[in-house]
Amino acid sequence: MMKTMTRMKIYRPNYNLAEAKAIEFLNYLEKKELPIKLIKFKTIFDDLEIKTYSWYSKKMGLSIEKVCDDLGSEDGCCVYNEVNGKYRIYYNDTIENEGRKRWTLAHELGHYALKHHENYGHNIMQRNGNLDVNYDAFEKEANCFARNLIAPPYVIFHIKDVNPSLIQHVCNISFEASWNIFKFIKQGIQEFGRGYSRDLAKKMGFESFLFSINNRFFCKECRCNFILEAPSHCPCCGRKALTKTPFKYGDDFTMKYPAIEVDHKSRARVCPNCQNEEMEYEGDFCKICGYYIVNDCSNDDGNYNGESCGILLPGNARYCYKCGAKSTFYMKNFLNEWNYNSNAPLEVSEDDLPF
Ligand SMILES: [Zn+2]
Ligand SMILES: [Zn+2]
Ligand SMILES: [Zn+2]
Ligand SMILES: [Zn+2]
Repeated sequence: MMKTMTRMKIYRPNYNLAEAKAIEFLNYLEKKELPIKLIKFKTIFDDLEIKTYSWYSKKMGLSIEKVCDDLGSEDGCCVYNEVNGKYRIYYNDTIENEGRKRWTLAHELGHYALKHHENYGHNIMQRNGNLDVNYDAFEKEANCFARNLIAPPYVIFHIKDVNPSLIQHVCNISFEASWNIFKFIKQGIQEFGRGYSRDLAKKMGFESFLFSINNRFFCKECRCNFILEAPSHCPCCGRKALTKTPFKYGDDFTMKYPAIEVDHKSRARVCPNCQNEEMEYEGDFCKICGYYIVNDCSNDDGNYNGESCGILLPGNARYCYKCGAKSTFYMKNFLNEWNYNSNAPLEVSEDDLPF
């Protein structure tokens, strides 16, 4: 007995490895945005399946309570099949707390990512299980992986005025978890002077996500939210006072008001006047009908000082978001008033849906 004990290697958690693995996993995802869509990983790895407790309960004819007993955890587990080398994660989908479910899933993904089963000879890793002296270390590693996957600190760090409830909302995790992440980041800055360069977030592909979360505005008049850099007027209804908020209140402006599609210079891709589709522009004019086809600030609302503010506008902007003047598309009646026939059903292409 003593002999076995002395030979047993005590495993210490390798946090750097867990962090690196989380970064590797984020790299596999096509969309770089929060909340992370954890379920996507089952389509990325051939040797991984993700199943719910409801599925297991139906298949085995067991109550959920029995499933918890059977799998040894109320939350979830990760099972390794030595014969075919495949992993299966089970998570308890009947738990109402969405944040807790997501954390379990991320944690079990950690056991998979860090190959705990293969490396340490366990076939099953249960959340809150307690199999041997090393189990605690595996749990810590899996939690570190989960934290870095679900709330990557180099992204969270660059969210303006970040606080625990914002982290909870943005990452879709429990309040408790978001507090821990908040403390972890604050402590890193205050005690160790640890920060995260913007370059890492950029390199990881989160730049446009960060732009959108840091530049989202809500208009109380038309009840739209939109993403623009430092707007002073609503591009939809022209109202002046806007609320800056990372939360998606009201309607998504681009989804509710489909746009005339424009290029990077705000030029219509199809002439809104003559419907000419072969847009070989003569400068900013349609080659066929000669119409000005740029959506920009018309600078013509009667109370502006006459100097062009020169802003190129999105294809659905009715108003210049800098000075409040009408947009050229709106002036020419290519766009309806924002409150025109607003009950009409909208045509939204499947590509525009956020899920
Ligand atoms: Zn675990
Ligand atoms: Zn508005
Ligand atoms: Zn034309
Ligand atoms: Zn303007």
